[in-house]
Amino acid sequence: MGRIFLDHIGGSRLFSCAACDTILTNRRELISTRFTGATGRAFLFHRVVNLNYSDVQDRVMLTGRHMVRDVSCKNCNTKLGWVYEFALEETQRYKEGRVILERALVTESDGIDEHMGDD
Ligand SMILES: [Zn+2]
Repeated sequence: MGRIFLDHIGGSRLFSCAACDTILTNRRELISTRFTGATGRAFLFHRVVNLNYSDVQDRVMLTGRHMVRDVSCKNCNTKLGWVYEFALEETQRYKEGRVILERALVTESDGIDEHMGDD
């Protein structure tokens, strides 16, 4: 678990890395639970912290062609999902800059109080 924190996002209902418990995002940032990733169900978020990003890749998905980067945990480097850099289809543009986290790779838990931070 360690104390390598990185960025605090606060809020209730936190999503963290299932492998090392690093906090990644919270329920307020959640846009949709109806996405599908390599391991099954995946979530789309507005903003996720504590990630490492791969180089941009050109990927054709069910919803069209997208430029994406794979994202992994900044602490333990487990791959968690991807971020949409650019969507070629007009109808998919809302996903640009948004992050997919795979459900199987994150843990959802009740948040700690926002004011409990030690910074
Ligand atoms: Zn991790």
